[in-house]
Amino acid sequence: MSHKYVYFFGDGKADGDASMKTLLGGKGANLAEMTKIGLPVPAGFTLTTEVCTYFYAHGKQYPPELKAQVDENIKKTEAAMGAKLGDPENPLLVSCRSGARDSMPGMMDTVLNIGLNEKTLAGLIKKTGNERFAWDTYRRFIQMYGDVVLGLKPQDKKEEDPFEKIMHDLKHERGVTLDNELTVADLKVLVDRFKKAVKTRTGHDFPEDAREQVYGAIGAVFGSWMNDRAIVYRRQYNIPHEWGTAANICSMVFGNMGDDCCTGVAFTRDPATGENVFYGEYLTNAQGEDVVAGIRTPKKIEELATEMPAVYKQLDEVRLKLEKHYRDVQDIEFTVQRGKLWMLQTRNGKRTGFAAIRFAVDMVQEKLIDWKEAISVNRIPPDDLNQLLQPLFDPDAKRKSVAEGKLLAKGINAGPGAACGRIKFFAEDAEHFHNSHKGSPDGRVILVRRETSPEDLRGMQVAEGILTAFGGASSHAALVSRQMGKVCVVGCSALKIDYQAGTLSVGEHVLRDGDWLSIDGFTGEVIAGKVDTRPSEVVQVLIDKTLAPGKSKVYKQFQKLMTWADKVRKLNIRTNADSPSQAEQAIAFGAEGIGLCRTEHMFFDHIREMREMILATTPEARKAALAKLLPFQREDFAGLFRAMKGHPVTIRTLDPPLHEFLPHDEKGQKEMAHELGVSIDEIHNRVKALHEFNPMLGFRGCRLGIVFPEITAMQARAILEAACIVKKEGGEVHPEIMIPLVGFKRELELQAKVVHDTAAAVFKEKGITVEYMVGTMIELPRAAMAADTIAQQAQFFSFGTNDLTQTGLGISRDDYGSFVRQYIEGDIFKKDPFQVIDFDGIGLLMQTAVEKGRKVKKDLKLGICGEHGGEPDSVKFCHSIGLNYVSCSPFRVPIARLAAAQAVLEEKAEKARKAAEKKAAKAAKG
Ligand code: PEP
Ligand code: MG
Repeated sequence: MSHKYVYFFGDGKADGDASMKTLLGGKGANLAEMTKIGLPVPAGFTLTTEVCTYFYAHGKQYPPELKAQVDENIKKTEAAMGAKLGDPENPLLVSCRSGARDSMPGMMDTVLNIGLNEKTLAGLIKKTGNERFAWDTYRRFIQMYGDVVLGLKPQDKKEEDPFEKIMHDLKHERGVTLDNELTVADLKVLVDRFKKAVKTRTGHDFPEDAREQVYGAIGAVFGSWMNDRAIVYRRQYNIPHEWGTAANICSMVFGNMGDDCCTGVAFTRDPATGENVFYGEYLTNAQGEDVVAGIRTPKKIEELATEMPAVYKQLDEVRLKLEKHYRDVQDIEFTVQRGKLWMLQTRNGKRTGFAAIRFAVDMVQEKLIDWKEAISVNRIPPDDLNQLLQPLFDPDAKRKSVAEGKLLAKGINAGPGAACGRIKFFAEDAEHFHNSHKGSPDGRVILVRRETSPEDLRGMQVAEGILTAFGGASSHAALVSRQMGKVCVVGCSALKIDYQAGTLSVGEHVLRDGDWLSIDGFTGEVIAGKVDTRPSEVVQVLIDKTLAPGKSKVYKQFQKLMTWADKVRKLNIRTNADSPSQAEQAIAFGAEGIGLCRTEHMFFDHIREMREMILATTPEARKAALAKLLPFQREDFAGLFRAMKGHPVTIRTLDPPLHEFLPHDEKGQKEMAHELGVSIDEIHNRVKALHEFNPMLGFRGCRLGIVFPEITAMQARAILEAACIVKKEGGEVHPEIMIPLVGFKRELELQAKVVHDTAAAVFKEKGITVEYMVGTMIELPRAAMAADTIAQQAQFFSFGTNDLTQTGLGISRDDYGSFVRQYIEGDIFKKDPFQVIDFDGIGLLMQTAVEKGRKVKKDLKLGICGEHGGEPDSVKFCHSIGLNYVSCSPFRVPIARLAAAQAVLEEKAEKARKAAEKKAAKAAKG
């Protein structure tokens, strides 16, 4: 039998099912599943993702057996629908829709109404008795096919769509403004002009043959897998290019045959807030794309209950059936053709972080899922927690702005949060403005559009928030923003946007490109100017303690989720903190220790004494300067120990090159000379002497302590004296002294000796002892490869993946910005290696160090304190190689807690899968 490339669905039967997403794509698999569970799905078939991968591997050719399989499935579809493709009497019309394994909303192409030509048009008129509808369908078909398959698109951002222009001109000639004011005779003229435009632009007649149209659409859908916006989207969401898309040929049903027809999109629960209410919108007498494109503002789904009560009841039943069946919130598309409901799509609904958490917690309560399922990555990607920690507008500042008459309008609140930025009307301009103000709060952007399209993706990515004048909660802008976790307000119809003039106006108020604008994604309010923000409810409860826990629903859900995560995770979560206040924040977010205290940050508060120490030319002078720094450091460390209440505290000895503490400009150097009472020449000479060509590879890290052991001794003394003080106060202390940038065992040995000698002296003086550890960072490739020898001197390792990535890749962590984008877009880096561990390279170094270290010391304590420690995939990697903890910035602690729990659950699932595979293989053999 030939390889199966085409899967049928229809008449209650289907070749595939929901488990076959890899092969059939999400849309195809779910159309099959819905058909199987008895929902009304128009018949059709799916060309598998294998056809797409074959298509790209063979110079855009199809497998030889495809044609026969398509023909056979067209026949089956015709039989199920009681109509025939290309039949002038009783024509079957079909759509061709893309559908990858993971949904990529709006990124690829779709063609509707395939099968229409001069002859079948007559059949459609006869069948429906509605000449206007048939001609309107025909003009829509030519327009869509012309755009998607034949490439009649605008050439640049300011050119109008060629078909829209023809239509606009005709409306102008006829003196009408709305599409539906065009008569049948007008539509005929329109079709004729459209066809002429196709001929002029392509040199060919518009294709009349229905099968040729089907194949043209299939080619375009597979071709759209590699369009720019799909590639950008895949990169952002980590979808491999190798997956390919499926193509679905579905029988057309029409929501635009009259007032007993409608079409809509809905979520089985509210995807913005998570509330358990049917949430959607529809348009009477319209086609699906009208709803999503946001050109007409649709009606709320509740209105359908009065407009078409029987249909609404059926749809509500479908909603419950789908949630029970899929055990997750579904995003559905439906069409009602002459009073009959048809389901066109279902998929797991994209949701905000707020909604994701509420869905998960509610569904556990409803016994739809268990708590382990609730915390899985499919339900809650750890980064979603970010949204719960995001700021809100400060109510007083907002009230003030409103009182000053700056509230411009109110739209639909489609993506929660508060955003403030400068108005940009074009995605391209937003991207450019953002890139030229990198990191500066002045470079924040609000992308303002009439509506967005997938072309705007890059602009949306860089924007703080997105505002549109048209469209509803399921419009492209709303969907994509939600997924990106962006603040979004849509359907703000009071706004007049003039792209040409670069203005946004509401009545008298005119704002221009570059002006400040604030949008509230919780309420839909649009406010001119800047509005101050305030912390989220979770932050108010945990950090500011200005809100009682019982008063915040969001906090209670967050807390429940964290409790579940803590039940399973094996990794401890620590924080990178240099001050008691940071440490307290991290503890409130659930941190279980400090994984990295960068002591140099403390020195910046006592820069005068630090500079004295740097200027010292003899050990005695250096010691005298260090003695001045000692009490400050001791006090800082005591504060940390108190804040951490007995949790371990890892303190790193001085790491950065000394020149970082000196002024490099003449004015600063003069001031320093004056302050310290030395000559300007002395300062110049010291700055010159400390100058390095490659400071990151120079006199830094433990090298400082090797050359100036008195620095390490002072720091060790400050740490241990502080520990003694806090212990005497009755506190518990677990100091861990960490030596940076070690590559050789001897380096650590020398530094550890300084620490141990100092400890012995301090304990003797204080008459008390404290348990402490000495360990090292593993942040050089040599340290990783020689971890077995280094482990002989270390009580713990902490991976400094910032430097390990820098030195392992030979890429400066401060200078890679100039080429990282090209490296990611050129598929050299899968992800930014300074954000996500480069598993195959740096990860391998880490794994080697773990194995070598533990070979020498079975119980060697292992952690990570580079920035990667708060990045979910990196956290999972750290779990997989057996680290004891990850350490990250305070606000990422909840994310790391969740990722660590998911790591355990995913590992278990993977083990179970492998065991089942082994069992099956054994059974097959025996
Ligand atoms: C590291 O290199 O990963 C690290 C944590 O140290 P720093 O960023 O201070 O160099
Ligand atoms: Mg480092």
